[in-house]
Amino acid sequence: MLPGRVTSANVGRTRTCPHCKATILESSAICPQCRHHLKFGAAAAPGVQARKGETAFRMEGTLQHTAGAGDWEYSVVLTLRNEKGEEIARQVVGVGALRPTEARTFTLSVDVVKPPGGGRS
Ligand SMILES: [Zn+2]
Repeated sequence: MLPGRVTSANVGRTRTCPHCKATILESSAICPQCRHHLKFGAAAAPGVQARKGETAFRMEGTLQHTAGAGDWEYSVVLTLRNEKGEEIARQVVGVGALRPTEARTFTLSVDVVKPPGGGRS
């Protein structure tokens, strides 16, 4: 194993973004939530360039309130399941209200990054 190399032991390790406190990958050079550049950790090591994730999955939908009906309230709930169908995360991403003729567009994207020189293939 080479020093500084990403191994399967540290693939998927997380840290807290100093700007927005979101839990992000330790290898991230840019926080996916607040989009701030991060200046420490593996991403800041010499020779390591900011890696842009490949969007493996992206889904978008718009909820349009029908005119004439009363106000609506909505909850955006994200659930994450593993290969066995077991729920490993569940989070309320946002809540709000929709009045007649208003709309909200929801976008879900999953970015995948292959660690440099490491990880199981
Ligand atoms: Zn952040």
